[in-house]
Amino acid sequence: MDDVIVVGGGAAGCMAALAAARQGAAVTLVERNQKLGRKLYITGKGRCNVTNDCTVPELLQCIPQNSRFLTSALTRFPPEQVKAFFESCGVALKTERGNRVFPCSDKSADIIDALLLALRRAGVRLLQDRVIRLRLGNETLLGAEGEHNFYPCKAVILATGGVSYPLTGSTGDGYALAASAGHTVIPPRGSLVPLVAEQDFCARMQGLSLRNVAIQVKNSKKKTVYAEQGELLFTHFGLSGPLILSASAHMRNFQTDRYTVVMDLKPALTEEKLEKRLLRDFEENANRNFRHVLEGLVPRLMVPVLAELSGIPEDLKANSITKVQRRRLLELLKGLRVDIRGPRPVEEAIVTAGGIRVSEVDPRTMASKRMPGLFLAGELLDVDAYTGGFNLQIAWSTGHAAGEGAAAWALGLENEHLEAF
Ligand SMILES: Cc1cc2nc3c(=O)[nH]c(=O)nc-3n(C[C@H](O)[C@H](O)[C@H](O)COP(=O)(O)OP(=O)(O)OC[C@H]3O[C@@H](n4cnc5c(N)ncnc54)[C@H](O)[C@@H]3O)c2cc1C
Repeated sequence: MDDVIVVGGGAAGCMAALAAARQGAAVTLVERNQKLGRKLYITGKGRCNVTNDCTVPELLQCIPQNSRFLTSALTRFPPEQVKAFFESCGVALKTERGNRVFPCSDKSADIIDALLLALRRAGVRLLQDRVIRLRLGNETLLGAEGEHNFYPCKAVILATGGVSYPLTGSTGDGYALAASAGHTVIPPRGSLVPLVAEQDFCARMQGLSLRNVAIQVKNSKKKTVYAEQGELLFTHFGLSGPLILSASAHMRNFQTDRYTVVMDLKPALTEEKLEKRLLRDFEENANRNFRHVLEGLVPRLMVPVLAELSGIPEDLKANSITKVQRRRLLELLKGLRVDIRGPRPVEEAIVTAGGIRVSEVDPRTMASKRMPGLFLAGELLDVDAYTGGFNLQIAWSTGHAAGEGAAAWALGLENEHLEAF
């Protein structure tokens, strides 16, 4: 019989298995896919933004959901230790803009290979199976039942992830498994997710990527909940791209609130400067039509949309454009408004918000307060963070805490007497 069974071989599960094995526990990691870390492989566009090189207080500021719950785990296994761990496995790391840490090779596969090697060296048994049930005795946990086998053990760590990008294997199995042991599941929803627009003009610009646009996200009380500059993409349903994904993590009340994205298409120019530029462009092209002038200002796909929204006919001569029309165009360039109907489905989100209620989990050991011997880690929990390596850091830290906690439980150790690694 194993001391610890880890269910799920993503970031949290691999780190949990390692941490448990390094405490001397006999550990088996059960992953449904043939390969470990399928989601890890696609992180950071295949480069894996493995953590963020910041302090724990800075980290906590980037976690909008249940950051207090994470304080202990993040403090005990902070970014500097995550970096040290991967470097000790031979992965050279580099830090980019916004303290984002990547492997120097720009290859997420190097992170997965390092984990695999460390798991093998630590003596973790790797098995392919899909866990479908927890076997529960009289208020005790007897093991995990897979499609192929039963895995008796003293402790089970659930690290099955959320429901985002389900083709990677994260299909939400852990919710039902945890619920069978008495846990509450906060309904999963997407964060870091594309947004569906009310207006159809976004669809007319689908494929258009704006590299440097400034946005403000306003709620129904006109309060700005997010403001940032970056890259945005128009799609057939609305808006996507890095800037929008980041913005979506701040739009947390779609049930009760309405959001509008206000875009400044010319963030480098003040209103006065843009006004002067428009005047000059219209004067220099007095006898050409509006469409021609607009093509000098914005990408071609945007021209018919801005012409329609400003109410200025595309074929109107520049010298016939009135002051009022010019003003309307200026307002559009500095504040194109897109009302948001809601997020795209959670399956398309980078992370799953919602999950196992954290008040039912011990923040030091990730032990279930509902079922002795059960531990939970990673995105399965009701935690999520902004972009920048924070979500993986949560997975490493909660995995590490769960691994140590489960080993201590299985081996009958006090947590304080654990070996540091
Ligand atoms: C496209 C994309 C890019 C991202 N980029 C970054 C980034 O650069 N930096 C960052 O910090 N975060 C990033 N994230 C988020 C990050 O990948 C996740 O937060 C993190 O991987 C969660 O780790 P996890 O181990 O909790 O879950 P997962 O990585 O989802 O792992 C869960 C594992 O459990 C397995 N499993 C599920 N059910 C069962 C079962 N019943 N039996 C056995 N195994 C099972 C799954 O197959 C999977 O391997 C990205 C996410 C996506 C989708």
